[in-house]
Amino acid sequence: MHDSLTAETIELLQTMIRNQCVNDGTAASGHETRNADVLRQFLGGAGFDVQQYEPTPGRATLVARIEGTDPHSRSLCLMGHTDVVPVNEAGWTRDPFGGELVDGEVWGRGAVDMLNLTASMAVAFRHLARSGFRPNGDLVYVAVADEESGSAHGMQWMADHERDAIMADYVLTESGGLHSGPKEQPYIGITVGEKGVAWRRLRVRGTPGHGSAPFKADNALMTAAAVIQRIGDYRPSPRFHELWRTRVESLGVDEQMQAALLDPARIDEFLDTLPLSGPGAQLHACTHTTFSCNTIGAGGPAPASTLRW
Ligand SMILES: [Zn+2]
Repeated sequence: MHDSLTAETIELLQTMIRNQCVNDGTAASGHETRNADVLRQFLGGAGFDVQQYEPTPGRATLVARIEGTDPHSRSLCLMGHTDVVPVNEAGWTRDPFGGELVDGEVWGRGAVDMLNLTASMAVAFRHLARSGFRPNGDLVYVAVADEESGSAHGMQWMADHERDAIMADYVLTESGGLHSGPKEQPYIGITVGEKGVAWRRLRVRGTPGHGSAPFKADNALMTAAAVIQRIGDYRPSPRFHELWRTRVESLGVDEQMQAALLDPARIDEFLDTLPLSGPGAQLHACTHTTFSCNTIGAGGPAPASTLRW
C-alpha cells in the first residue's frame, strides 16, 4: 500500500513540476490553473466536494473538503502552494522542469518548495477519503496559487472573498515533515512565528548624455551601484524577538554557544565565526532586519521585486 501511495506522489509531483507554474511576480505569470486542473482530476470522483476559484485568469486555487461528523470539532487544513519561483537555468545540472527521477530523488523546480508536499498532501487526502475516513472536524485540502509573490491572486484573495472555504482551526503547510536533529533523536520543528516582508522598489534616474564624454555625468547605473553597495554594507543591530530565547534553547547547542547567541553584544561576532554559512544566515535573519537586493531592470518598468526584507 505504501509503495503505491509513494508512486502516486512521485507521479503527481513530476506532473506538477513539468507544468512550469512559474510565478515571476506579474499577474500574467504563474498559470497555476494547470496544476489546479491536475489536482482536481486526481482528487475527482473520490466522493467529496472540490471547488476551484480563479480570481485572475490562469491562477486557480483549489479547495477540497471531507466533512467532519461533528460541526463543533476542530478542523484541519492541509495546504500547499502550486506555483514555483523562476529559474536561472545556468545554475542547474538537470532540466529544472524535467521532473526526472534519479536515484530515488525527483529533480526540478518545486521538488522541495513545495510541490512535494502539495502532491503528498493530495495523495494522503484522497487516500483517506477513499478508505472511508470520516474525521470529527472537517479535513480541508487547499492547493493555493500565487504564494511566491504576495498572494494577491491566491491566498489574499481567498481570505478577502472566500474566507469560509479556507477557514480552519489548524493548518499544516510548508516545511512540514522536514526532520531535524541527530539520527537517534529526530524531531520535526513547529513554526511559532513568521518574519514579515516589506517589498520595496527603488527607482534611480539619471540624465541622458553621450557615452563618449562621461566626465561628471549623471549616470543612473553608477548611482544605483552606489545605493546597492550601501544597502549591502549596512549592518543593522541585532533585535531579539521574545521567541528567540526558546529558539536558541531548542537548538541543542552547548551553553557557551547559547550565551553568545543570546547576547546582543556578541551575536554578530559569533555568527561571523560559524564554519557553515547556511545555519549562520538563518540565525542572522532571525535576529536582524535583513536587506536583500534581488533584481534590477533598466529602461522600463522594473520587475515586481527589487528588494526583499
Ligand atoms: Zn514555498
